[in-house]
Amino acid sequence: MAIEEITPRQARERQLRGAVLVDVREAHERAGGLAEGALGVARAALEADPSAYLPERDAELLLICQAGARSMQAALALQAAGYVRVASVAGGTTRWIAEELPVARPELDADRLDFNERYSRHLLLPEVGEAGQLKLQASRVLVIGAGGLGSPAAFYLAAAGVGQLRIADDDVVDRSNLQRQILHTDARIGQPKVASAQSTLCALNPRTRIEAVAERVTSANVERLLDGVDLVLDGADNFPVRYLLNDACVKLGIPLVYGAVQRFEGQVSVFDAGRQRGGAPCYRCLFPEPPAPEFAPNCSEAGVLGVLPGVIGLLQATEAVKLLLGIGEPLRGRLLQFDALSMRFRELRLRPDPDCVVCAPHRAFPGYIDYAQFCATVL
Ligand SMILES: [Zn+2]
Repeated sequence: MAIEEITPRQARERQLRGAVLVDVREAHERAGGLAEGALGVARAALEADPSAYLPERDAELLLICQAGARSMQAALALQAAGYVRVASVAGGTTRWIAEELPVARPELDADRLDFNERYSRHLLLPEVGEAGQLKLQASRVLVIGAGGLGSPAAFYLAAAGVGQLRIADDDVVDRSNLQRQILHTDARIGQPKVASAQSTLCALNPRTRIEAVAERVTSANVERLLDGVDLVLDGADNFPVRYLLNDACVKLGIPLVYGAVQRFEGQVSVFDAGRQRGGAPCYRCLFPEPPAPEFAPNCSEAGVLGVLPGVIGLLQATEAVKLLLGIGEPLRGRLLQFDALSMRFRELRLRPDPDCVVCAPHRAFPGYIDYAQFCATVL
C-alpha cells in the first residue's frame, strides 16, 4: 500500500489532534532544531526495533526527516512491520521551518555541542556518522615514536577524534627534527618529545586523552604498552622495535599499521596476522630476520626528504581510522611503496609464510628477541 504524503501544516494539525510526529534524522541533525513536540528517533534505530519506541501498532504516526526521502523509507519499513496508519511529511523539516511552524531546540550540554560541531564533517558521511564517531571516541591507539611518522599520524588521529592516544618515545626534541616532526616547535627543543606531543595534541583536540610514555620499547615493556589498545601505529623505523611490535601484535591479536621512510621513498602496510593467523601476513613473513646493521642505515645517516614522512604517516593514519571504523578495504596483505621523486605508488602482494616462526597457525609463541641496538635514532 502506498504511503500517504502530507504537508507540514497538515502534519501539525494532525499532531495537535493526537497523532505522533517522529523525527527520524540523526541526533546531530535534530540538534539544529526539530518540529515542536516531535519524538526524535534515528531511522536505523527505529527500523531495527520499532516497538521499542512505538508500542501501539494502530497509533497514527507521522514521520519527518530533513527533506522527505528518509521519512518515506522509514514509513515503508514501519508499514512492513505492521503499523497501519503511517504518513510521511513531504519537504521534511526544511519545509516545516520555511512555513514558520513551531520548532524546538533540544537542550544540549556543552560536551554534545562540542562533539557535533567538531566532528560535523564526519557526521555528514554515512560511512562514519554518529555511530562511527562514537567508535573512534571509544578507541585507543598506541603510536610508537613522536617523530617523522608519529607526528602527522598522531596529529590527524587526534583531530579525527580517536579517544585515547598512547604515545611512546624516549627521545627529546632536537633542532634537526623540526624539518619533518610537525608536532614539535622551536621553543620546545630539549623537551621530551612525548611532552611536546601532548601539548600540541591537547591544544588541537582537548577531547582526546594523551598518555605520554617516555620509554623506549623493549621486550620488558612491549606488552604493557600494548595493553588495551585497538591498534598499533609503528612510527619508530628501527628494526629492533619493529620486530618487537610485530611479534607482540601477533601474540596479542592486535593489528599493526606499519610505515617506513628513507631518503625519497617510503612504504606502508597493515599486518593483521594476529587476528587472521595463516590468512594475513606479519612483518616476519616478509623479512624473517633483521638485516645486518651495516645494511640498515637510519635517517641520521641516509637523510630523508622532510615531506616524505608526512605522506607515509598520513597513509598510516588513514589505515588506522579505517580499521577503527571497520570501513573500506584495509592495506592487509599488500605493501604500498611510494617514490616521491617519480611521484609513483607501487603495490606488492604479500602472502603469509606458512612456516613463519611467529604467525604460522598452531605455532607456539617463540618469545621476544631484543635485537642489538644498531639503529638507535627514532625518525
Ligand atoms: Zn608471519
